[in-house]
Amino acid sequence: MNALRDRLARLIAAAGPLTVADYMAACLFDPEHGYYTTRTPFGARGDFITAPDVSQMFGELLGVWVLSAMRAASGSEPARLIEIGPGRGTLMADMLRTLFRLDPALEGRLQISLVEASPRLTEIQKRRLAGLPAAIEWQRDIRSLPGGPAIFVANELFDALPVRQFVKTAQGWHERLVGLDVEGGLCFLAGPQPIPPGLLPADAGAAPPGSVIELSPAATGMMDAIAGHIAIHGGAGLFIDYGYQGPATGDTLQAMRRHAYEPVLATPGEADLTAHVDFAALAAAAHTHGLATRLMSQGAFLLAIGLLERAGALGSTQDESGRERLRGEVARLAGPDAMGELFKVLIVGPQGLPLPPETA
Ligand code: SAH
Repeated sequence: MNALRDRLARLIAAAGPLTVADYMAACLFDPEHGYYTTRTPFGARGDFITAPDVSQMFGELLGVWVLSAMRAASGSEPARLIEIGPGRGTLMADMLRTLFRLDPALEGRLQISLVEASPRLTEIQKRRLAGLPAAIEWQRDIRSLPGGPAIFVANELFDALPVRQFVKTAQGWHERLVGLDVEGGLCFLAGPQPIPPGLLPADAGAAPPGSVIELSPAATGMMDAIAGHIAIHGGAGLFIDYGYQGPATGDTLQAMRRHAYEPVLATPGEADLTAHVDFAALAAAAHTHGLATRLMSQGAFLLAIGLLERAGALGSTQDESGRERLRGEVARLAGPDAMGELFKVLIVGPQGLPLPPETA
């Protein structure tokens, strides 16, 4: 029994198939049954673990980056710190601890905005960050941010934004839709209208039948809003996610529940749905605002910004089992077989603004 599947099936029966993006949006954000609106997805007991839960060092090193970016972007007057999709608030808590330790003068002066679409996660973040010496405000929507220079941070946000999918058939490209099979279950099908080639990436023409292309208007729209803010008000951004440096074809939509993959249409609203992030598309959205971008692997970024040094400092006060745990965390965050290569870091800022790391 899955109430959201029944509701989507009735909707499709009445009004026709949904786009994959509509399906994904309903699964993640339906007010009554959506994954982010009704569940606490993260952590060992949740469905997946993100880097802030792997190690406190992740947020601490991002805090180091944020402080450098603030100084570069706005001098002694701290820029606003904006995190989009803060999850349980762990990353923000770790970044703030580091910011206040490195620059105690920031205490009481830092202005923070958290952009969070889920009311449930907003409440969890409020509890997690209560009592910190910073003015924190919450926004549901990126478009209602206050003005002024801002440093944006987001970890595993863009992979949660809906993708449209297009599939190549013998008759050309069609949008991939979610419809009903003969038994009334959800199934993928190719939409009836062919998609004009101009709407898809230039290399789509050469793809063999059966190929899938993903586009995320929600992700490029989000980056467009961020880059527009930075171009007008000043600031910079750091975005970490798993994905590819396009152009690429392939179906990357995946559902994860209790640390295991499951079919995307099996349990709407009960599993986390994500797609790999097209970093070339995000960078292109930033370039339209005249901004510069750099892309590097998470491993290269963390090592360049001081992961080994931080692990050494923490390890110096711990026993051998503590040091062993830290070595394990370094390997998970930066190792090529773990998060180090698949996860990537996109740095965005005005042309010529010196943003760390210097080498990576
Ligand atoms: N950054 C956290 C959580 C990642 S999960 C971590 O690393 O652990 C994705 C987060 O983005 C969730 O908090 C989800 O509710 C939020 N989110 C998804 N779409 C959003 C949108 N359009 N605007 C703001 N937040 C969004």
